[in-house]
Amino acid sequence: MEQHNLSEQLSPRMYESYTNSVEQLKKHCQDASDMDAIQNIETIVADLLNENHRLSLENADIERVANMKTDFLANMSHEIRTPMNAVIGMAEMALREELNAAAQNYLTQIKSSGRALLGIINDILDFSKIDSGKMDICPVEYEPLSLMNDIANILVTRLKDKMNVELQLRMNPNLPCRLYGDNLRVRQVLINLANNAVKFTNRGHVIIDVDYEQAENDTIMLVVAVKDTGIGIKEEDLAAIFESFRQVDSKRNRNIEGTGLGLAISKRLMELMDGELSVESEYEKGSTFTMRLKQKVIDDHPVIKVNHSENLAVIGYFNNLHLARQLYQDTNRLGVYASALISPDRMRVLLTGNKKELQDKRLYFIFDELAMDADVEALIREYETISFIELIDFYSDKKSEIHNLRLIRKPLSTIAIAMALNEEEYVLSELESDVEFDFYAPDARVLVVDDNAVNLTVAEGLLEPLKMKIYSATSGKMALDMMKQQEFDLIFMDHMMPELDGVETTKIIRKNYERYHDTPIIALTANVVEGARDLFFSAGMNDVVPKPIEVRMLIKKVKKWLPKDKIIKTKPDEAVRTELKEEKKKHVIADLDIEKAVSMMGSEKLFFRILKEYYKQIPTKHLAIQKAYETKDWETYRIEVHALKSSSRQIGALELALMAEELEKAAGEENIERIRLRTDALLTKLSSYIQLLHEFAMTPENETVPVKRVIEGQKKQEFLDEMAEASDNLDIDGMEASMEKLSRYSYEGKEQQLFEKLKQAVDGIEVDVISEIVEEWRGIDG
Ligand code: ADP
Repeated sequence: MEQHNLSEQLSPRMYESYTNSVEQLKKHCQDASDMDAIQNIETIVADLLNENHRLSLENADIERVANMKTDFLANMSHEIRTPMNAVIGMAEMALREELNAAAQNYLTQIKSSGRALLGIINDILDFSKIDSGKMDICPVEYEPLSLMNDIANILVTRLKDKMNVELQLRMNPNLPCRLYGDNLRVRQVLINLANNAVKFTNRGHVIIDVDYEQAENDTIMLVVAVKDTGIGIKEEDLAAIFESFRQVDSKRNRNIEGTGLGLAISKRLMELMDGELSVESEYEKGSTFTMRLKQKVIDDHPVIKVNHSENLAVIGYFNNLHLARQLYQDTNRLGVYASALISPDRMRVLLTGNKKELQDKRLYFIFDELAMDADVEALIREYETISFIELIDFYSDKKSEIHNLRLIRKPLSTIAIAMALNEEEYVLSELESDVEFDFYAPDARVLVVDDNAVNLTVAEGLLEPLKMKIYSATSGKMALDMMKQQEFDLIFMDHMMPELDGVETTKIIRKNYERYHDTPIIALTANVVEGARDLFFSAGMNDVVPKPIEVRMLIKKVKKWLPKDKIIKTKPDEAVRTELKEEKKKHVIADLDIEKAVSMMGSEKLFFRILKEYYKQIPTKHLAIQKAYETKDWETYRIEVHALKSSSRQIGALELALMAEELEKAAGEENIERIRLRTDALLTKLSSYIQLLHEFAMTPENETVPVKRVIEGQKKQEFLDEMAEASDNLDIDGMEASMEKLSRYSYEGKEQQLFEKLKQAVDGIEVDVISEIVEEWRGIDG
């Protein structure tokens, strides 16, 4: 390696002091060997410094590469999220179509794989951020209860397919109700642990136990344990599970998805927050992951409280011992007297026995759905003043018809028990079920701003069921222009756009557009970098919807931010469904059993597509059967009538299908007599469909009207110019092309009338009329 002068490597002061010292030493040299020694020292120092220099260059290189890696990953993640928006969003939209079961299944897989892929991308991004020291911990005030509710919501959905796993959520009721810490990171770690627990457990239970220990004055040690009765981890694997990309026991876990990053991220996050993550596990028995983290206390009121607990008593009746134990411990912790596990018989004894703990108390009898039997039912009717609480499955649609019987849904949680005792309703929502479009807003005017046309289509498509008027702008500038001309109730604003980006556009709106002072602006962003939210809020945006856009999130935000008077509560979805049913009944096509055919195909659209295909093939089929008959090629004949049988069945032409079936059999048996007798009738029936189906097979394939956008002024002018030019040149193709472009948009009022007139004029090639209409339309602003 290149040698550098000492003067280059040392600071001038150090260099001076070094050369002075060497000079001094040289002065005191007595002989040549002293001189040699000094020169040796000089060489060693020079070598050392050179080595040092080399290392520092290498370090800089490593750091540069590490930075490049993180930047690359961050950029890639961002780039991947954007197309994923299209994939997931379009799958979501396609799922709204009437599709057959197989297609629905494929789309559901696309959606869920898309989501899984996103999860992996997020993990990789997180991991690289932690790795390069760029993961910021952002403490805020938060409520541990809502954090736990969020996690419970997610878990309930995950547990849907695990019938034999009971989820239990326990929380020390005295935990302070407001804490200070990075709740998002705590949540991330807990979701990771809980997801693993669910993933690796097929029977038994998953318990999340939230507890605390008093630390310093205003600080507690939050202790959350996630316990499962799953497959457990071998002792020799325990250390490895926190390493990145490590999955242990891979033979057994082959079918379980994951990247091996979750625990590595969780552990590093805990360390960043000065907390700990530990694990205890017994192979084949189960595991307990415990998170310990100091959090400042903001409000030390207990997180859960039962009013007048001293006046209440609970009696539990469960066949599951774990649930019984939790109920017993939780009620005790809530300060309520509890008596565990007794049968309805014992209950009677207890009630008549004047037990002192039960006297003058309001009594609750809490029991598991599985324990409900005639005895319990008799008890409920007998003791009207006792409140009976039945714990039912989360997905159960049972309703109570008895006034002193209440139902609460699993999972059994401390909070649910407390709420039941407080006579309050506690509802966990299922997160990933289909979105309920329980409102629509036909008068609402919404502007979506995004420079990417695919994203616009996704956003518009996802919003379509709300029946709002959707306007789109492909740049910040276009949005500003449109806002000058008309009023919007809600604006969705993409972040990254060329020239004016979403943040800058919002700042301009808030500063210069008086009437838009309070109009909600919601950021659409694939930017997951820390601090982005602050950027949006400080620019004056009201909320954020992350990309890929989740339809649930989008609808939720619309509901939250749209002026209340624009929202109409209803179930348009249902309305649409009944409309469809009626529609089905209305169609009468020859002797076809349409209802049967449609239900077989699962979709009316598909039915019409196949009908059309069938119709097109009638002449060919006719010819083929006739030819086989004439040439006495009975094998071909059999194949042809067999095919006719199935296709006729598909469109509901059952009579023809029967005729074909009979002839298929005859051909198989070479029963020429029968073939001769019946073929004519078959062919006559088949050709009768040419006329009968004509009208229906010719209806447009796509019966649903595509979402139409409102046209922007500039575009409209452009199309009208094209139209004028084409009509001046008597260019019929050109006129039709411009008409087609115009018809992709929707119009209101006067413009709608002009559009219709123009269409007629183009159809009739009335060039003079076309010019007049174009002139008139050009003059209209909007
Ligand atoms: P993955 O994405 O594979 O779940 P993690 O880092 O979260 O990655 O977990 C690493 C490995 O640790 C898992 O692949 C599994 O072998 C093991 N593991 C994690 N949690 C549990 C658990 N609750 N029970 C059994 N094994 C577990």
